[in-house]
Amino acid sequence: MRGQGPPLSSFGVWLASRAASDPSRPRRQGYDIHFHDKKILLLEAGPKKVLEKLSETYSNRVSSISPGSATLLSSFGAWDHICNMRYRAFRRMQVWDACSEALIMFDKDNLDDMGYIVENDVIMHALTKQLEAVSDRVTVLYRSKAIRYTWPCPFPMADSSPWVHITLGDGSTFQTKLLIGADGHNSGVRQAVGIQNVSWNYDQSAVVATLHLSEATENNVAWQRFLPSGPIALLPWSDADHTDFIDTAGAMLQYAVSLLKPTKVSARQLPPSVARVDAKSRVLFPLGLGHAAEYVRPRVALIGDAAHRVHPLAGQGVNMGFGDISSLAHHLSTAAFNGKDLGSVSHLTGYETERQRHNTALLAATDLLKRLYSTSASPLVLLRTWGLQATNAVSPLKEQIMAFASK
Ligand SMILES: Cc1cc2nc3c(=O)[nH]c(=O)nc-3n(C[C@H](O)[C@H](O)[C@H](O)COP(=O)(O)OP(=O)(O)OC[C@H]3O[C@@H](n4cnc5c(N)ncnc54)[C@H](O)[C@@H]3O)c2cc1C
Repeated sequence: MRGQGPPLSSFGVWLASRAASDPSRPRRQGYDIHFHDKKILLLEAGPKKVLEKLSETYSNRVSSISPGSATLLSSFGAWDHICNMRYRAFRRMQVWDACSEALIMFDKDNLDDMGYIVENDVIMHALTKQLEAVSDRVTVLYRSKAIRYTWPCPFPMADSSPWVHITLGDGSTFQTKLLIGADGHNSGVRQAVGIQNVSWNYDQSAVVATLHLSEATENNVAWQRFLPSGPIALLPWSDADHTDFIDTAGAMLQYAVSLLKPTKVSARQLPPSVARVDAKSRVLFPLGLGHAAEYVRPRVALIGDAAHRVHPLAGQGVNMGFGDISSLAHHLSTAAFNGKDLGSVSHLTGYETERQRHNTALLAATDLLKRLYSTSASPLVLLRTWGLQATNAVSPLKEQIMAFASK
């Protein structure tokens, strides 16, 4: 098989290409220099996703992008494309309980953005454009599904063999010294390498839809209300009278929307009222949790949902993946600078330790929140009411939470 393709690297989405043009954003320069002699192959089972023209209809698939993720995207020029298309910054977030008066308000006093709502298609377009800009070093094969991975024995305990072999559905083969599995929560790479994955499905599905508001508002607040059947969120959208909606109750959409209007609120901001739901925009997603026991093995690293799958109530899934990319690029860059073999576990474990520390904390907190808010039992309602009110009252704690979520 050796020699049937160029000597290649990965299965993932990464390399910095050029510095961001926004001078106000911190930049992560330097990775490019250390990777200049490396060749990268990106295998994508799906088609190329470029938006020739931005549709006037807003897509129902959006992501809440943290400032940390925006900085990463900015560092290799993708954020510029997003800014040239459309996104919406939000500066405030109000989270409240349906069973009590408890509420928490996250606010940015200094007018910094708390996050950005961006259509997934726009993110994909921006990344595709940047990949085109580095086509001399990154080869992308679309509609190319990897179906088999083989490691010469003994695998996976030793660093001895330098090549992982990859076979595509059309029979072509490649070899690489480092395979990055960025292939989603059912990761074939993770399964092929035999990494254990702790996972369970939630008794919930997410319903997403585009809502039309009854009146024009400033629309820069993200709203989330915890109903016993699951959280419901309204994310601000690109103009004054659209917003995006995620309901993880899986219950009837109209019923959930009517519950969204709080009845007994006092010193809190009221969410905008909803005029109608864009009927064609409704889609259902099953939800679950998953975490890989290991993120790395010799010659393999897992990133994104391949390593961790999280409930979307905190809007952190893709941000965790971007955090993985940032960390892995940093560790690989150091290894490349020192002339080390990129597939060696000696530096891959640095990535694993750094990211597992961050990701397990987020997974555990999200799962706890999901369980705590799935009940209307009085002792638990009391406990979470105190918890929410206490957190709202203690500014340093709120700031810590905001800082953690903005990474
Ligand atoms: C309703 C909902 C709302 C969400 N909202 C947010 C949010 O607001 N903010 C946020 O941060 N996260 C959010 N998330 C989570 C986020 O969508 C995921 O974490 C993210 O999409 C994971 O990205 P990924 O690239 O790791 O995996 P995926 O998106 O699953 O992509 C995997 C890719 O690998 C390719 N692939 C798979 N197998 C192969 C193969 N054998 N060969 C070649 N290619 C292959 C696939 O074609 C695909 O392109 C939400 C999730 C849901 C369900």
